[in-house]
Amino acid sequence: MVASPAVLADLHSHTNRSDGSHDPSALVEIAAARGVGILAVTDHDTMAGVAEAIAAGNAAGVRVIPGIELSIKVPHGSMHLLGYFNDPAPAPLSGLIAGFGETRTERAREMVDRLNGMGVAVDWDDVLAGAAGAPLGRPHIAEALVRAGHVVGRQEAFDRYLGDGRPAYVGSDGLGVEEGIQLVIDSGGAAVLAHPETLKLDDAHLDPFVGRLKQAGLAGIEVHRPEHTADQFARFRALARKYTLIASGGSDYHRPSSPHHPGSTGNPALPIDTVDRLLATALR
Ligand code: AMP
Ligand code: FE
Ligand code: FE
Ligand code: ZN
Repeated sequence: MVASPAVLADLHSHTNRSDGSHDPSALVEIAAARGVGILAVTDHDTMAGVAEAIAAGNAAGVRVIPGIELSIKVPHGSMHLLGYFNDPAPAPLSGLIAGFGETRTERAREMVDRLNGMGVAVDWDDVLAGAAGAPLGRPHIAEALVRAGHVVGRQEAFDRYLGDGRPAYVGSDGLGVEEGIQLVIDSGGAAVLAHPETLKLDDAHLDPFVGRLKQAGLAGIEVHRPEHTADQFARFRALARKYTLIASGGSDYHRPSSPHHPGSTGNPALPIDTVDRLLATALR
């Protein structure tokens, strides 16, 4: 059978090298079966899944884009910054990834200590075992809470304990805003603001904040996401236009129980040339 033409682009996805459930090759196969021709693998603070995904992409006819989703320190809400690269191990970023993992371990430990302090007993070794070497994130703690019987499912774990501002939540102690964008640029990549809604800023505050990111070298903003309402789509697209940012997006797929699948990038779908336009902004 002739490989079907690239019909969908999805610039946001996760593997079990961070908090997704699929091996990189399985993720690529699922994406291929759904008609995705361009897939960025954007694990949290690691690029450990990229090489395997590229190899699987070569076999399955999927162009895999090396990516990362960096945790950024902000005073309220949470900020994730996507980076897209030509190089599967872009320096200097690649040299800093081990340190990001250590920062995540310390933060996860603090959240587990808080839970234990609240009388919600969570075994640290069980959290570590569940993550299987991936940089630790809240989803790994949520799963340990489920296994310990404190909650019925991961969503309850977020709603009661781990969501932004909930009692066991500890914010990211990672890169600063400008520092993260500059690191992506210095590593030859294009930086994109992920899911702007999680910043929890109203329009009057989001607009100048996006202006600040643009000043720092931001190339794009996520506009095409399956959970965006028509109103969110319009707001974020207006910001993209105002600040001459590329309207990017993706499914943010993590696991089969996710509400959306690889290639679901909202309505309208993500334009197929988006990553080329993003990478054209990278300086080398
Ligand atoms: P972390 O990087 O450790 O802060 O964890 C972020 C990840 O946790 C996100 O990528 C989501 O997978 C998940 N997450 C964050 N907030 C929630 C929430 N309120 N409900 C469900 N999952 C969430
Ligand atoms: Fe995640
Ligand atoms: Fe994110
Ligand atoms: Zn994500």
